[in-house]
Amino acid sequence: MKFDFLSESDQAYFIHKASTLVEALPYIRQHSGKNIVIKYGGHAMGNAKLSKNFSKDIGLLKEVGINPVVVHGGGPQIDKMLKDKNIKANFLEGLRVTNKKTIEIVEKVLSKDINKKIVNDINLSGGKAEGFAGNQENLIEAKKLEIPVKSLDSNIEKILDLGFVGTPTNININLIKKSIDCGNIPVISPLGIDKFGNTYNINADTVAGYIAGSLKASKLLLLTDVAGILDEKKNLISFLNFDDAKKIINEKYVLGGMRPKISTCIDAISKGVKQATILDGRISHALILELFTEHGIGTQIYS
Ligand code: ADP
Ligand code: MG
Repeated sequence: MKFDFLSESDQAYFIHKASTLVEALPYIRQHSGKNIVIKYGGHAMGNAKLSKNFSKDIGLLKEVGINPVVVHGGGPQIDKMLKDKNIKANFLEGLRVTNKKTIEIVEKVLSKDINKKIVNDINLSGGKAEGFAGNQENLIEAKKLEIPVKSLDSNIEKILDLGFVGTPTNININLIKKSIDCGNIPVISPLGIDKFGNTYNINADTVAGYIAGSLKASKLLLLTDVAGILDEKKNLISFLNFDDAKKIINEKYVLGGMRPKISTCIDAISKGVKQATILDGRISHALILELFTEHGIGTQIYS
């Protein structure tokens, strides 16, 4: 059967579009009604077109009955602000060393600039986003992060001092659930507060994983600026089971920001999240490709 009013190539184009929608249907059914936590990386949000598409994708997920919860990073934006103020950025074990002056800048960039922009972008695309600063309303309770390290020449263990870098100890999950129940899309900055009122910078992957675990989310999606976990030959590792993910973390080719990502996935899965994916936020509509097509992208870590 042919449509006289369309050229052959237009017909093929529209039929392809229709079959893409039909292909999405079982995936929409599978994810509808579920909570999916998405870490939106500072690198992935650097490009205007990509961030517009991200907002549209988040809106679309909500429209089809999925409950997206967004946790954002802001590394490159924080680096830029620190550079403007002549403060040197330092990293240890993929985490930012954060002194008093730095935490003030981190808080401003994350909660005032980036959080507001993401909320605004989602709202402009027709969604209903609600912004949360992790260190407000006791949303993310935290304590100072202590990483034990052994020096190369002796077996003596010492604690790395990263300053105001925290690790979550509790999430006020009711605040997030209430937001979801009101039909909103929570957008959360990765800051925490301790019982003395100190604010901590927390790796956004860690926060996303912790929230996914507390919410018993069906999926954790970590958008980043690489295709996924790459092996020593720089080839993408598409699938990892839980045990292999635990092993890979100590490999020499897993460095910097990839380490907290993988340990976050492991923690989330051990708390009941079914699947965690590290995927390329530089690809347009990465979320839609991952969730609604049979191609799936990135590295899937599953229980
Ligand atoms: P994000 O802002 O998304 O958290 P990060 O810089 O913290 O980004 O982490 C992603 C980075 O981890 C990649 O850009 C890459 O340079 C680095 N990385 C280290 N080891 C690996 C690996 N084995 N596979 C992929 N990326 C890796
Ligand atoms: Mg990172």
